[in-house]
This record gives sequence, structure tokens and C-alpha cells, in this order.
Amino acid sequence: DTIGENLDRAVAAFGDREALVDVVSGRRWSYAEFGRAVDEAARALIAAGVAKGERVGIWSPNRPEWTLVQYATAKIGAVMVNINPAYRRHELEYVLNQAGVRMLVSAQRHKSSDYRRMAEETAPAVPSLKELVFFDDPSWNRLLAGAASVSDGRLAARSAELSCDDPINIQYTSGTTGFPKGATLSHHNIVNNGFFVGELLRYTEQDRICLPVPFYHCFGMVMGNLAATSHGACMIIPSPSFEPAAALAAVSAERATSLYGVPTMFVAELGLPDFASYDLSTLRTGIMAGSPCPVEIMKRVVSEMNMSEVAICYGMTETSPVSTQTRVDDDLERRTGTVGRVMPHVEVKVVDPATGVTMPRGEAGELCTRGYSVMLGYWDDPERTAEVIDAGRWMHTGDLAVMREDGYLSIVGRIKDMVIRGGENIYPREIEEFLHTHPKIADVQVIGVPDAKYGEEVMACIVPADPADPPTAEEIAAFCADRLAHYKVPRYVRTVESFPMTVSGKVRKVEMRAWAARELG
Ligand code: ATP
Ligand code: MG
Repeated sequence: DTIGENLDRAVAAFGDREALVDVVSGRRWSYAEFGRAVDEAARALIAAGVAKGERVGIWSPNRPEWTLVQYATAKIGAVMVNINPAYRRHELEYVLNQAGVRMLVSAQRHKSSDYRRMAEETAPAVPSLKELVFFDDPSWNRLLAGAASVSDGRLAARSAELSCDDPINIQYTSGTTGFPKGATLSHHNIVNNGFFVGELLRYTEQDRICLPVPFYHCFGMVMGNLAATSHGACMIIPSPSFEPAAALAAVSAERATSLYGVPTMFVAELGLPDFASYDLSTLRTGIMAGSPCPVEIMKRVVSEMNMSEVAICYGMTETSPVSTQTRVDDDLERRTGTVGRVMPHVEVKVVDPATGVTMPRGEAGELCTRGYSVMLGYWDDPERTAEVIDAGRWMHTGDLAVMREDGYLSIVGRIKDMVIRGGENIYPREIEEFLHTHPKIADVQVIGVPDAKYGEEVMACIVPADPADPPTAEEIAAFCADRLAHYKVPRYVRTVESFPMTVSGKVRKVEMRAWAARELG
């Protein structure tokens, strides 16, 4: 299926069911209404002269029109370019030029971000850019008004020209480890991934999915929106950007059955002072993904948030994104302690990064994936594409994983984050998991810092459970003694209020390492 066919099928099967709810504005769309709104936007884009394969950028926090643009661009075969709402002019200009964006659809402002001003100031530096359209503005209404001049037949003719293997989306990676790369994805890539994610969560038209995760990232637009429309479920937008109270209030008010988040979002929700006042009784499932999911947090999500069927997904933008997922009937150990097993129609292998030889089960190596989900390539960048996709079509993830005897995988960390102390490989993840069990620690990140004697040393950065009573370095040392090998015990302990994050909610360890190196002088 193309994305358009995927949506048309849902409209035909679930026309009167709710498709989309915007909690902030109170607006609601049934599948029939949503389908009509998408078709109107698609005809409007044709009227505006957007040809098949041309790039349309979208730069906005979550809102219902984001979703309309997602499906409308796919219906006309345009390539939607997701632009991170945290970007500023420098990154915006880079992305618009790199992808050769013709039309930019943008929010005007959100909180302190003046998107309109930044877009208008950037436009002259982008030769490909012909049109700027802003939500809540006459330019958006003008765009939609154009739909009247394009018949349904013309839209159908355009849809008939599309192939599942056409590129329809450029998604930039989170930029956790460096400058973001534009993963180019086809209908086939992401329709299938969204379908299988929903299938494994056993979504039906009864499900209502609360989406506090950003749409610009595949977590929102594929695992959220496409999983929903593949199964007739409802997409609920609790707020434009993540707010823990808004997310839980939306679950209560909208009787959500599913809630998504990166681990830090669940930490924030569980930590709300009025957590007990939200009605989470309708929740059944959900997804935690995007970065290492601490076992302790997962256990609390299962027991305190009523999400007994919550899944962990592992994946990356380059693989549409999900490669492994836990299953709804997994026991607590698998559900909390692994990233699940491989998705249908995807292959995985764990190899020695140096030699490429497959590792025995139980031993850590680089995870490689292959299948329908692997991206077409990085946009306009064959060299970097060749660095990650080998001749056998295997995607080299840069993540270290262990394949267990039972076929379940665990991720031990990114190759780039591994700490090498005096020749010993240390996986920060393992130490983070361990420190999470300390009662005075709300959140923790472990990084390697330069050390004259050992090459690298371990530093733990701790967000204390009670800011007035942070654990001391001595307490941590005592806690680790007899429980962790001496070389893994953090040499340095720092108390912090929060971690530097990407908008998709990942900790930027690169930045933390730079900060720590300065701090240690
Ligand atoms: P960049 O590639 O620009 O540095 P990024 O890799 O963070 O950024 P994404 O594609 O959003 O960009 O994230 C994919 C990465 O997120 C994976 O390679 C992996 O390191 C991490 N990840 C995703 N899910 C999980 C998970 N369940 N457990 C551990 N790590 C995960
Ligand atoms: Mg990456």
C-alpha cells in the first residue's frame, strides 16, 4: 500500500470512528472527516503546483494540521521533510537547502520560538524555496482555498501515478551523536512498519492512543499516526510539545488505551505531585522507546500506570524505525529487561564490529538489520549511505546488542558511548541500570571522561529524588562496593538538575562529555 491507500482503507472501514482528537482546541475528526480533510489538503497542494517528488517541509510542534500535511503530501507523492521544532535558523537553512525544499509549512510561534520570523529570515538563503505557508494565518487558508480548483479525479489520477517504493519522507535523525542525517523513506518502509507496530500491540478501532511524542520524529508519525490509521485507532494530541500533566490529563479525559513516551517522559509523569489524581484505568498498552529504557521505570509503568501490555521498541530513523519489539503477552522479565525480538519480515544479526563475523549468542556486538524497513538511503549523500548500508543491504546500527538464547535482544549501548577504561570495555547502560535502584536517585546518566592514567574514567551524573538530599559520592561508592566490579564504580559523581536533551527526548551524551571534560579541567 501507499500511505494514501492505507488511509483510504481506514476511511472505508471505520468512517464513523474517531480518527483524531486535538485536546488543546477540542477539535475532533472522524475517519470520514479526516479523510475528507486530507483530500482537501492534497488537492490544495496540487493546486499550489507541488509535483510528485518535490519536497514540502513541515516545521511545527504537534498539531492536527501536522497530520493532515503528513497524509496529504503522501497522497500526492510529494516528499515531506520533517523539520525538528527545536532547530534554529542555522539548522533550518541547512535542512531546507540539503533537501531542496520547495514549500515550507510552518507554525507561527510556540512558547519562546518565533518560527515565523526565523522562517522569513532564512527564506532568502534557500534558492529552492518558492512558498512559505503558516498555520493560523491567511496563507494556510489561501492554500486550502486552492483545493476548489482541483477535482477529485485529478487527485485520483495523481495517486495512481505513485509507487510504494517512491520516496515520500525525509526524516532527519535525532542528532544525538552528531549532525542529523536525512533518512529517505518510502511508502513501503513506513506503512509496513506502522502496521506491524500496531499489529503487535493488538490495536483495533477500539484503541485510543495518547501521543505526547513529537510528530517530526518517527516515534510520533510512524509508530503513532501510521500505526493508528492502519488499525482504525484514534490519535490523541495532548499538547503541542510534551507536558507531563497534559499527557496524563488527556489519558483521563479521552479514556486513552495507549500512551507513548521516551523514558524521561514516563519519569516526568510518574513524578508529578498529583500523579494519583489522574484516572489511568483505561490504559492497557503503550510504547517506551527511543533510548535505553531502565528496568525500574518500566516496572513502575506496568504497575502504577496500569499498562500491563506496554512494549519496548528498539529502532532508528534509518529503519522506519522499529526493528525489535516486545510482545503483549511477554512476561515481566522480557517486557522490562529486553528490547523484544525481531519484527516480522525483518532480519537481525549481531556481529563483531571489527571483523563482521556473527557473534555467539550472549555476547555483545554491533547490531545489523535487514529487510523492508531499511531506508532508501541518506538524502543526496551516497557516501554516508555506503558507510551504514553494506553490499548485502545490512544496515549497521552503531548500537551494541546481545542476542539471547530465547531470541530476545538487549541493547548494551551505542558504540560511541562505550567507555574504555584501562582496556576494559564498560557499558554505561549497565551502571545506569544499577544506580537506578538507589532510592535517592531519580534519574542518572553515566559517561566516560578523559583520564591520564586509564584513558577514560566513569562519571555518574545524578538527578536526585529529593534535591535537598542528593546522594554523596561516598554513599554511591558504598552502594557500589561488593556489587559492581571496581573498574565500573563511578570515579566521579555529580549532581545535576537535568540532562541536555534532543527534542525527541534523548540525552545528548556528546554534550555531557564536553561539559564534564571542562568541569574536570
Ligand atoms: P543520530 O543518529 O543523529 O546521532 P539518533 O541515533 O539518536 O541520532 P534516532 O534515529 O532518533 O537518532 O535514534 C536511534 C537510536 O536510538 C538507536 O540507534 C539507539 O541508539 C537508540 N534507541 C532507540 N530505541 C532504543 C531502545 N529501546 N533502547 C536503547 N536504545 C534505543
Ligand atoms: Mg543514529
